[in-house]
Amino acid sequence: MAKTHKLNTAKRKELRRKEEENLRILAEKVVEYDVKTSKASMFADLPITETTLKGLKEAAFVKMTEIQKNAIPVALKGYDILGAAKTGSGKTLAFLIPVIEKLIHERWTEFDGLGAVIISPTRELAMQIYEVLVKIGRYSTFSAGLVIGGKDVKFEMERISKINILIGTPGRILQHMDQAVGLNTSNIQMLVLDEADRCLDMGFKKTLDAIVSNLPPNRQTLLFSATQSQSLADLARLSLTDYKSVGTLDVLQPGNSPATPKSLEQSYINVSLPDKLDVLFSFIKSHLKSKMIVFLSSSKQVHFVYESFRKMQPGISLMHLHGRQNQTARTDTLDKFIRAQHVCLFATDVVARGIDFPSVDWVVQADCPEDADTYIHRAGRSARYGKSGKCLIFLTPQEEAGFLKRLKTKSIEPNRLNIKPSKKRSIKPQLQSLLFKDPELKYLAQKAFISYVRSIYIQKDREVFKFDELPLNEFAASLGLPGAPKIKMKGMKSIEKAKELKNTSRQLLSLSKADDDGNIVEDKNKPVRAKYDKMFQRKNQTVLSEHYLNITKSGSLSDEEEDFMTIKRTDHELREVDLPHEVLPSSKRALKKALSKKASLSTKGNPTKLIFDDEGNAHPVYELEGEEGFHKKGNPELQKKEFLSKESQIMAQVDVEDKQIAKQKKQEKKRRQLEALRREQEANESDYSYDDNSGPAVAYLGTGNLSDDMHSESESEDSRPPKKARFQVSDVEDIHNDFIEIEEPQTLESLESLTAKLIQN
Ligand code: ADP
Ligand code: MG
Repeated sequence: MAKTHKLNTAKRKELRRKEEENLRILAEKVVEYDVKTSKASMFADLPITETTLKGLKEAAFVKMTEIQKNAIPVALKGYDILGAAKTGSGKTLAFLIPVIEKLIHERWTEFDGLGAVIISPTRELAMQIYEVLVKIGRYSTFSAGLVIGGKDVKFEMERISKINILIGTPGRILQHMDQAVGLNTSNIQMLVLDEADRCLDMGFKKTLDAIVSNLPPNRQTLLFSATQSQSLADLARLSLTDYKSVGTLDVLQPGNSPATPKSLEQSYINVSLPDKLDVLFSFIKSHLKSKMIVFLSSSKQVHFVYESFRKMQPGISLMHLHGRQNQTARTDTLDKFIRAQHVCLFATDVVARGIDFPSVDWVVQADCPEDADTYIHRAGRSARYGKSGKCLIFLTPQEEAGFLKRLKTKSIEPNRLNIKPSKKRSIKPQLQSLLFKDPELKYLAQKAFISYVRSIYIQKDREVFKFDELPLNEFAASLGLPGAPKIKMKGMKSIEKAKELKNTSRQLLSLSKADDDGNIVEDKNKPVRAKYDKMFQRKNQTVLSEHYLNITKSGSLSDEEEDFMTIKRTDHELREVDLPHEVLPSSKRALKKALSKKASLSTKGNPTKLIFDDEGNAHPVYELEGEEGFHKKGNPELQKKEFLSKESQIMAQVDVEDKQIAKQKKQEKKRRQLEALRREQEANESDYSYDDNSGPAVAYLGTGNLSDDMHSESESEDSRPPKKARFQVSDVEDIHNDFIEIEEPQTLESLESLTAKLIQN
C-alpha cells in the first residue's frame, strides 16, 4: 500500500516535471513565433498546449481563420489587443484560445479563483461564447461560469468563488463583484470584451467603468468586434495605452474593401414607407423555402408585423424575437429558429450582434438601421464562416441617398433592385379589415405607428432620417389604421439619451418617481397619461381600455417614448383632453399649496415660531419675562450660565440626533444608488435576456465528460447547474443543405426578373 503510494507520488512528480518542461518550451516558442513570417495555417502549428489542441480537434476546429492566425500568437505573447474582423470570421476562438492558454501558462489551478472575465453585451451571445469555451476547453482543468442574470443571485454567489473563467453580461458581472463575498478580482489575468464597441458605448458606460475599477491594472485586455469605433478616450477607460491592432485590414482601414463578408450578396430596394408592408409580405411569400431574419426598428413594430402577418398566413412559419418578450418564449424562439429550415423571424436589434445563426439565407432590413455599423452587424447574421448569404435593405426615398452614402464610407455598395409596378400587390385592404374586426390588433398597430415615428424622431443622423418628411397619414393607412394617431413631441432627445433610457430599468424609472412611501408620484410631464388612466379606470369597458391598463401597469407607456411624446389620439377610441388640474394627485396638490403658503409668508418677512402651552395658548419660543421676576430668581450671571448650559445640552442632543438621521439618509441614498445601478444593468440585459430561471452555469472544463454535464437534465440542487448546449456543429451542416440559390442579377433585365421573383405572389 505504502509502496504504491510512493510510486504514485513519484509518477506524479515525474509527470509534473514533464508538464513544466513542456510549458517552458512552449513559452519559448511563443516568444520566437513571428506572425509576419509564419506560414502556420493549422491550430496544430500554433505554440499552444496539447490540452487545448485536443479540445479544438474534437470540436472540429482544425484550420485557422485569418483573424485567428493574426490574433492568437500576439495575444499569447501577452499584448493587449484591439481585434477587428468581419462578422462570422471566427473571433470567438481568437480570444478564447489565448484565455485558456494564459491561465495554463500562469499555472492556474481550479482552486485559484477568478482568472479571466469575458464580457458580452447580450445574454444570448454570452451563452454562445460559453458553449464554445466549454467545447474547446473540455480537457483543461478550469471551471467556467456563465452569469447572465436570473432570479437566484444567491445561488450564483455560492458557486461563483469556484469559477476560473467568468462569462457574462456587464450588469450581472458587476453585481457579483459588488455582492459576492467569494469573488476575488485581484488576480484576474485577462479581460475580454466581445462586441467591444457595444460594451464601451453609452448604455454600458457606468457599469463597465465600475467593473474595470475592480480589476488589477496589470491584466491583459482583449477587445474584439467587427466594427471598431473606439475613441482613444474609450481605450483610456480600459487603461489600454499600449496595444496591438490586429485584424483584417479592410475592417481596420475602411476604404479598401467592404467590411461585410465577401460571400454576402447585398442589395436594396427603394420602398416608400406606406408600401413597406406590402413589399415585405410579397417578399416573404416569394421566399417560402428560405430561412430569413427580418429586422424592424422596435419591439412594437415586430409585435404588430408578426401578429398581422400571421393572420394573413403567408405560407411559411413565422417567429418573433424582441426584448420585451418573456424569457422562456425567447429561449424557445431562438432554439426553434436555429433548428428550423424554412422560417421567417421578425426581430429587433437584440439579435443583430454576434449571434451565430447557422445557415440564414436572407437578412432583410425592413427598417433602416441607425448607422452603417448596425447594418454590418445585422447583415452579418448571414454568410457566416465563408458561407453564402443575402441581405436586402428597404430604403425609403427619404433615406436612400443618405444611407447609401453612409454605407459607401464602409465600401459597401448594395445592388439596386426595382419592383415592377405591375407586380405590386397591396395587403392594405386585408389589414384594414383585420384591424376593424380585431381591436387588439388595432391597438398593436397604433403602438407600432407611434414607435416607428418615435424611432425616426430620435435618430441622430438627420441626413438619413428626415422626420419632417414622414408621410404620416399614408403610413397609418398602410398599417390598416383609419387615421394617424396624433403625436406631440416634447423636447428633443438624442438617440444616445434614448438608448440610455432604454437601458434604464422601468422599475428604476418608476422608483425615481416614487415618494418616500413608495407611492408613484405622477410626473408633471405626463399629465395626459394620468388623465387617461383615470378615464379608463372609470370606464374600463372596451377591449382597448383593458389593454391600456395592462400596458400602463407594466410601464410600457411610461417608458422612454412617453418622455418626449404626448399621445393625443383624436381619431380613435381616445379623445384629446386638456390637462385638467384635478388629476394631480392630492398629495402633490397639498404640497403645492403648502409651498405657495410658505412663499407668500416669506414675502411678509420671517414668520414667528410659536409654541403651545397645555391650555392650547400660543407663545413665542422665547418670551421675555419682566425684569422684576427675573431678578427674583437669583443672580443674573448664574441664571445666564444655567440657561446656556441647559440650551447647549439640548442642542448637543438634537445635534446627535440630526447627525444620526443624516447618516441614515446618506446610507440609504448610497444603497439606493447602488441598487439603481444594479437595476439599470439588469434592465439593460433583460432586453437581451436568455433564461431568467437559470442560475449560473458552472462547467468544469477538465472533467472530460463535460458534455454529459452540459446535457444533464437532472442536476441536483447542490451540484453544478450546467447550461444545456444548444448549438451543435452538426446543426450547422444539416441545416445548411437547404440553402436556396438565386442567380446574381447581371443585367437590367435579370435584375427586373429577380425583382419580379421577389414580389411574386
Ligand atoms: P465572429 O465572432 O467573428 O462573428 P464566430 O466566432 O461566431 O465569428 O464564428 C463564426 C462561425 O465560424 C461559428 O459557427 C464558428 O463555429 C465557425 N468557426 C470559427 N472558427 C472556425 C475554424 N477555425 N474552423 C471552423 N469553423 C470555425
Ligand atoms: Mg463574435
